[in-house]
Amino acid sequence: MTLWLLGTHLDRTAASLDEHDRVLLIEATEFAERRPYHPHKLTLVFAAMRRFRDDLRARGLTVDYRRVETFAEALDDHFDEHPGDDLTMPRPAADAAEDRLRELVDDRGGSLSFVPNPTFLLTPEEFDEWAEGRNTNDPDTYRMEGFYRWMRRRSGVLMDGDSPVGGEWNYDEQNRETPPADWEPPDPPEFEPDETTREVASWVDSTFETFVDGAETAPFRWPVTREEALSALERFVDARFAEFGPYQDAMIEGEWAMTHSLLSASINLGLLRPMEVIERAERAYEDGDAPINSVEGFVRQVLGWREFVRHVYRRSMPAMADANQLGQAEDLPPAYWTGETEMTCLSEAVEGVRKRGYAHHIERLMVLSNFALVYGADPQELNEWFHQGFVDAFHWVTTPNVVGMGSFATDALSSKPYASSGSYVNRMSDYCSSCPYAVSRDTGEGACPFNSLYWTFLREHEETLRGTGRMGLMYSHVDDKGEDEWAALEERAETVREMAREGEL
Ligand code: FAD
Ligand code: SF4
Repeated sequence: MTLWLLGTHLDRTAASLDEHDRVLLIEATEFAERRPYHPHKLTLVFAAMRRFRDDLRARGLTVDYRRVETFAEALDDHFDEHPGDDLTMPRPAADAAEDRLRELVDDRGGSLSFVPNPTFLLTPEEFDEWAEGRNTNDPDTYRMEGFYRWMRRRSGVLMDGDSPVGGEWNYDEQNRETPPADWEPPDPPEFEPDETTREVASWVDSTFETFVDGAETAPFRWPVTREEALSALERFVDARFAEFGPYQDAMIEGEWAMTHSLLSASINLGLLRPMEVIERAERAYEDGDAPINSVEGFVRQVLGWREFVRHVYRRSMPAMADANQLGQAEDLPPAYWTGETEMTCLSEAVEGVRKRGYAHHIERLMVLSNFALVYGADPQELNEWFHQGFVDAFHWVTTPNVVGMGSFATDALSSKPYASSGSYVNRMSDYCSSCPYAVSRDTGEGACPFNSLYWTFLREHEETLRGTGRMGLMYSHVDDKGEDEWAALEERAETVREMAREGEL
C-alpha cells in the first residue's frame, strides 16, 4: 500500500500518511519541459517536494523519491519493485487527470484509488449537492455570492448563530480605499533559501527553458516548507492583515505586495490547509487584531472564491479551456513578455511577474487581464501566459480566473466582464501620475491606451454585452457618443493596437 503524492499534495498533516507502507513522490521533469514556466515556480515546486521528502524521512516514514522524466518511467520502476501494489492519491482537481493517472497504474498491473483532497474544503459530491437543482445559467442561483453564504452557514465561519458576524455578509464597500500618500506597506516576509533550494534553483537555471532568464528575476524568497508557510501566515496576520481589507484593491508604484497575504502558492501546494488559514483569520478578528472588513474580505477569497472556481472549473471542463464567447483573437502584445511599455500600470504588473512570478489580484484582474480583454487578446493565449508566468498557477485555478473572470470568454463565473477604462486604474492607484499617457484623454496622441480600447470594446461586443447584468450605465455612455467621437476613438484604438503589436506602447 503506497500513498502517491503529487507536488501539489505536500500536506504533512494528512493523517493517512502513517497508514501506508510508503510514500511515493515523483519528480518528473516532463512537466517542466512542457512549457517555459517561471524559474521561481519550478524552484518552488521541486524544492518544496525535496524538503517534504526530507521532512517525512526525518519522521521515520519510508519515501520513494523518484527523479525521472515521466510518470510512466517512475511507475515502471515502482511496479518492478512492488508488483501489483495498491496506490492511493488525493483526488486531482480535474476529472480527466483521474482517468489518465488510473490508466497509467492499471497498465502496470496495480490499482489506484482516490481519497478527498485536503487542499480543498469541499469534495466534488458536496459541491454538486449545492449545485443540484440550480440553473447554472442563472446568475441569481449559481453564483459565488450564494455559494459563499452557503459555505459560511455550513462551516459556521464568521457566523453568529444564523447571522453573519458584524451583521453583513459582505464588506466590499469598505474595501476600496486608497492609502494616504505617506503610507508604506510593511515589508513582505522573505525566506532565505537553504542548500536544497539553492541547488534546485541552479539546476532549474541550467536545465530548463523558462519564462524569464533566472538572472533577471529577484532573489527567490518564497516559502518552501510548512514551517516557512506558517511563518508567512503569522507575518501576514501580524503586519498586514488589519489593512488588507481597506487596501485590497489599491495599487502603488514600486509596492508589489501591498497588504496581500502572498499565501496562494503555499495553499495550492498543500503546505497550508485552507481551513487553518481561515481559522487563523477568524482568531485574529476575535483577538481584535483585524477589523471585520479585512477578515470577511479574506475569508470570502479562501472559503468562497477559491472553492467556487475549483468546482466550476471541474464541472465546466474541458469546454472552459477553449471558451471564447467574444471571439477574441489578437496575439498578446510583446510587452507581456518583455515588460517593455511606457504604460506605468502594465509595466509595473508585468515587471512583478517577471521578477517574482507574482502580481496581486487587482493587478491580475484590472490591469493584466483587463488590458488583454479590451485589446481583444485570445483568451487561451492569455491563459497560457498566466500559467507560465505565475508561481501559484495550476490549471484548475488559472483557467477559471483567466478564461472566466478575466477574459469573460465564458459566463460561468461572472455575469459581466471586468472591463474598465483607465479611470479605474487612476482611482485605485498612483500609476497615472507618473505615466506619459494622459488618463483624462480618450483620443489623440498620448491618450491613455485603456480608454479608446475600452469604448471600442463595448461597441464591438454590444450584442453580447448590452443585455448582461449591470452594463446598463456603461451602455448609456456608449449611446451618448456621437459619430465624430466614435471615429476618433476607433482611430486611436487602431493606433494603440498597432503600437502594442510593434512593442512600442
Ligand atoms: P490574497 O489577496 O491575500 O487572497 C487570499 C487568498 O485567497 C489567496 O492566497 C488565494 O488562496 C485565495 N484567492 C483569492 N482570490 C481567489 C480566486 N479568484 N481564485 C482562487 N483563489 C483565490 N490564484 C491562484 O492561486 N493561482 C492562479 O494562477 C491565479 N490566477 C489568477 C488569474 C487572474 C486573471 C485572476 C483575476 C486571479 C487569479 N488568481 C489565481 C486568484 C488570485 O488573484 C490569487 O489567488 C491571489 O492574487 C494570490 O495572491 P495572495 O495569496 O497574496 O492573495
Ligand atoms: Fe495605465 Fe492609462 Fe494610467 Fe498610464 S494613464 S498608468 S496607461 S491607466
